[in-house]
Amino acid sequence: MMIELQNLYKKYGSKVVINGITEKIETGEFFVILGPSGAGKTTLLRILAGIEKLDNGKIIVDGKDVTNLPPEKRNVAMVFQNYALYPNMTVYDNIAFPLKMRHMKKDEIEKRIDRIATLLKIKDILHSPVTKISGGQQQRVAIARAIVRDPSFYLLDEPLSNLDARVRFTARGELKRIQKELNGTFIYVTHDQKEAMSLADRIAVLHEGIFEQVGKPEELYEYPKTKWIGEFIGDFPMNFLPGSIINEDGIEIGFRPEWTLLGGEFKGIVESIESVGENIYLFCKVKDSSVVIFSKQRYDVGDEVSFSITKYRKFKDGIL
Ligand code: ADP
Ligand code: MG
Repeated sequence: MMIELQNLYKKYGSKVVINGITEKIETGEFFVILGPSGAGKTTLLRILAGIEKLDNGKIIVDGKDVTNLPPEKRNVAMVFQNYALYPNMTVYDNIAFPLKMRHMKKDEIEKRIDRIATLLKIKDILHSPVTKISGGQQQRVAIARAIVRDPSFYLLDEPLSNLDARVRFTARGELKRIQKELNGTFIYVTHDQKEAMSLADRIAVLHEGIFEQVGKPEELYEYPKTKWIGEFIGDFPMNFLPGSIINEDGIEIGFRPEWTLLGGEFKGIVESIESVGENIYLFCKVKDSSVVIFSKQRYDVGDEVSFSITKYRKFKDGIL
């Protein structure tokens, strides 16, 4: 199930939201579309589902042009951010609903629900009313309902954003496992770079209507194509200093906090400190710039630190 996006273009009124997206998504791929709020992620998913019409471009699924097919003919599963379960039904009936709508036989419905419930580990709550189960369980039921039909691919719009941090963490692992077991093609939208990094086979960064970079998580982290992506990806934004500090004018050097070592030729003043587990990140003033330095050692605000840069990338006019 190869999905080809060919020069997709979409505007609302005079506002261009999707401005020429071309990409191929492979069978069985966990493809994450990452971008800030308002970037057009939901719009793009709605276009793929057939709910929203394109102004230009084509969507080809397995060689077949589906651009003008209505949603019910596309056989895609979509899980929304604000999933709505039918509150007066049991878990079982919620999942069965889309199958009943398709007049599937009762024993076939039972078989499918049994398989999906095992996959999602919700067998023990199948006969509970959906109002009596936890938020995390409701999320699973929503996913179960969306995927029970054996769709050709799966569209997920920030499906974990309503869960609290701890549950979200385990839910990520579960989603990844489900995707592997289904061998499904997942197109997953999020604004959370951490989530994208942990889930994706490949990430597409949606910025200003285009995929500014598409690559494996580690590629985006190591070689961000633009300064903007360097700042957007990573637990801390990439640091930038003028090229003059390495005696090169007209460029900037970008480096991660982890690409620094304490001691060395550069000097900064600690302005604030953040601890993440055993690691300490020092926010320092270096000449006119602010940079974050990785440290295992405690410092106080106002201390002077010297550091060296073990690895850096060169950017010219904001581009790698
Ligand atoms: P995201 O999901 O990345 O937060 P959206 O796709 O929801 O972004 O929205 C992208 C932009 O398109 C936003 O500026 C939003 O206001 C606008 N937009 C979305 N849907 C509509 C619509 N139906 N009519 C007009 N503008 C819309
Ligand atoms: Mg959205």
